[in-house]
Amino acid sequence: MNPILRLNGVCKNFGGVVAAEDVTFSVMPGTIHGLIGPNGAGKSTLMNLISGIYTADKGSIYLDEQDITHIPSHKRARMGIGRTFQTPRFLQRSNIHDNLLLGTDLCHQVGYLRSFLARRQKDFESELQELMQFLDFSIDLDDDISSLAYGQQKQLEIVRAMLAHPRVMLVDEPAAGLNNKEIDDVMELLRYAANERKIGVLLIEHSMDMIMNICEEIVVLSFGKVIAQGTPEQISSNEAVIEAYLGRDNNA
Ligand code: ADP
Ligand code: MG
Repeated sequence: MNPILRLNGVCKNFGGVVAAEDVTFSVMPGTIHGLIGPNGAGKSTLMNLISGIYTADKGSIYLDEQDITHIPSHKRARMGIGRTFQTPRFLQRSNIHDNLLLGTDLCHQVGYLRSFLARRQKDFESELQELMQFLDFSIDLDDDISSLAYGQQKQLEIVRAMLAHPRVMLVDEPAAGLNNKEIDDVMELLRYAANERKIGVLLIEHSMDMIMNICEEIVVLSFGKVIAQGTPEQISSNEAVIEAYLGRDNNA
């Protein structure tokens, strides 16, 4: 099986700051891949390089072995690169349903192909119902997004990304600001995305519990460089990692 996402020798500088240096790793479909490292290590920069917000200075990025290094971000999104943001980005005055629909391309289509779109809309609604049942929220989709608790909004960010049927989903710090029950729910949702939807998930998270719990593979960054990669067992016993990261502050 080919990786769904592959980075090969990716570099990015901001002025004198090296944010990514020769970064190489790959993510297999249907797996959760952790991206960890101290603050400023370059984690969010990598997500921005993968989603096309930034362009790599050097190196290449492949989606399902297609070179996407120079493809603009809106096209990458259509090709299957989904993402969530550290702080949920919703239209506060719109209802929950419409906010979730906005993540898909259904609402950008023009009036032709109506029957095709009607079918797509039906699929969207049934998939939404399925995901809402999975989350077990007791909410009304017609309510304003602002009626939701922060933790619910963070979970809906992931749902919104999933509704667009990504092949790769970039998830930046989903556990920040959540309580333990909500963190468990996020882990279940990400497992579901990987196992059932076969999405390749790239997960940035400071909670080592979460990372060690749900990742098949982990990449560790320090000053823009990959200092280790491997399974949770390999990473937790890696000397360089303990020195650069784990040993210094176990739950940064
Ligand atoms: P992390 O997400 O691991 O905390 P970042 O990727 O946000 O780290 O940042 C990595 C380095 O790149 C930091 O030194 C940061 O200040 C710098 N950086 C990130 N984005 C920019 C930018 N748009 N302009 C200038 N410097 C940036
Ligand atoms: Mg960051």
